[in-house]
Amino acid sequence: MPMPDHVDIAIIGGGIAGTSLAAALAPHRSVALLERESAWGYHATGRSAAEFTRRFHSEIVGRLTTASHAFMSGPPEGFSATALLHRRGNLLIASHEKREQLDAITEAELRNAPPGATPVEPQTVEQALARVPFLNPDWLAGALFDADCWDIEVESLLQGYRKQAKAAGAHTLLNWTLDAASHRDSGWTLNSADQAITADVVVNAAGAWADDVARLCGVSPLQLIPHRRTAINLPVEGFDVSEMPEVNEIEEDFYFKPDAGQLFVSPADETPVDPHDAWPEELDIAIAADHIDQCTTLEITRVAHSWAGLRTFAPDRLPVVGYDSERPNFFWYAGQGGYGIQTAPALSRLGAALAMQQPLDDDLTALAITAEMFSPARFAR
Ligand SMILES: Cc1cc2nc3c(=O)[nH]c(=O)nc-3n(C[C@H](O)[C@H](O)[C@H](O)COP(=O)(O)OP(=O)(O)OC[C@H]3O[C@@H](n4cnc5c(N)ncnc54)[C@H](O)[C@@H]3O)c2cc1C
Repeated sequence: MPMPDHVDIAIIGGGIAGTSLAAALAPHRSVALLERESAWGYHATGRSAAEFTRRFHSEIVGRLTTASHAFMSGPPEGFSATALLHRRGNLLIASHEKREQLDAITEAELRNAPPGATPVEPQTVEQALARVPFLNPDWLAGALFDADCWDIEVESLLQGYRKQAKAAGAHTLLNWTLDAASHRDSGWTLNSADQAITADVVVNAAGAWADDVARLCGVSPLQLIPHRRTAINLPVEGFDVSEMPEVNEIEEDFYFKPDAGQLFVSPADETPVDPHDAWPEELDIAIAADHIDQCTTLEITRVAHSWAGLRTFAPDRLPVVGYDSERPNFFWYAGQGGYGIQTAPALSRLGAALAMQQPLDDDLTALAITAEMFSPARFAR
């Protein structure tokens, strides 16, 4: 389908945010999904830990996660050839210095389980070792098991949304960089190197570049700051890791989980950076390996692969969704931080309703999710 000269809504950014929003809008509006790179999900979306977890995030992210679970566990017919979620479980481990934190977190989680969640199970050292035999018994003081943690098939989710968007008539374009934008009463002219598109509304789903895209459009930025997070893959000799739970240090100093027969390890770093094609620093790679050296009995022979991605946060660490107060045809859809994949099903429905100025779905309001929580107007300029 050739790209038309004009669409109702042009979405800048083909990560999970822009793609899921395109799928939600395309049945109702003409949509163009415009991505700078030569592959969908090349930045944050393609570099995540692929985790869906009911716990250990803010209350409001928890509500978006609850509202996303039904879609993730039962997507529409034909959306994906494979299940989107695979239950993995999460073992939270504590060293002797963190015994008190473990007890406090265990008590809080037993008291305040999210609606419908499986109760957490306190674990002795022996029980934890039965789940992950290569944990170091000298390092480990105790643990907590959370069954409500799944792996997400991120590529299937992303491609499922893209197929849905296209089937509903959306135009999706790679290698299209927004270089310049101008606004008149009738809407936007959006310029790339060799193609201009006009649109009534522009959606900013540019992830780490969201403030840059705002500036290009003459809109004041909102202090959406990208934070680098590192990951490494370690080969594991002598253990089949495929069915082990994810393991998180009790205060998320680091975490690890299986990844294609190896161990994915992140030192849970959060370094503010300018937007860029992120790569890992040697020091963070070494810190990740050192955590595994301390808390397991594994012999680390080499780092098979390392990478980094950018998690982009607004000042209050909640997504920013809604029309800009200064430039009404400019719609923010950014700041998904560390949970943009697991919350995409609910957030894209919320985003589509707000972009079309319609009421939120009943299940979202029943969970006390409101437009105001995510409004760009909550930040002083
Ligand atoms: C190491 C790591 C672990 C994570 N783990 C999890 C997890 O377990 N679970 C979870 O839910 N989330 C996780 N996240 C967070 C999740 O990856 C992000 O919240 C999510 O991917 C953000 O999606 P996005 O579409 O906003 O950003 P991106 O995927 O970065 O997409 C933005 C796109 O905009 C494009 N763009 C920018 N500027 C322009 C322009 N001028 N013109 C055209 N296109 C442009 C970029 O090329 C980019 O592709 C993790 C992130 C990292 C880095």
